[in-house]
Amino acid sequence: MTRPRPPRPVPVPDGLSAPYWEAAAREVLVAARCSRCSALSVPPDPVCPHCRSTDPAFTFEPVSGRGVLRSWTIVRQPFLPGFKADVPFVLADVELAEQAGARMIGRLLDGPDAPLRQGAAVRAAFEDVAPGVRVPAFVLETGA
Ligand SMILES: [Zn+2]
Repeated sequence: MTRPRPPRPVPVPDGLSAPYWEAAAREVLVAARCSRCSALSVPPDPVCPHCRSTDPAFTFEPVSGRGVLRSWTIVRQPFLPGFKADVPFVLADVELAEQAGARMIGRLLDGPDAPLRQGAAVRAAFEDVAPGVRVPAFVLETGA
């Protein structure tokens, strides 16, 4: 007898992150722009990581989704049962093209056998994780 597979956890939007997840569901990557220092953050934090404002009054704007691979790790251990079928997978640290230091962590959908190298060009992609729920991820730009 096989037991049903536990579901993969899905994001639970809150007041701060709801615009981010609503855009992701439409396959649009948005970044939060701080109203105090104008820097972009992805995903939004209660405190602006650039100017440390505790009242950043973020506004969300679409970004190109293009960036470069800064670093990565290959996840081989499913720390939550819902990820058991997904390992091994690549978690990438990507710097977005829009702003130096606008870094974002996301899965690299090409997988651990892809030719990974620092500085490789990537673009945003989206994973369908539940009906109407998409999570931003990345893929390597081909021919880059
Ligand atoms: Zn700021």
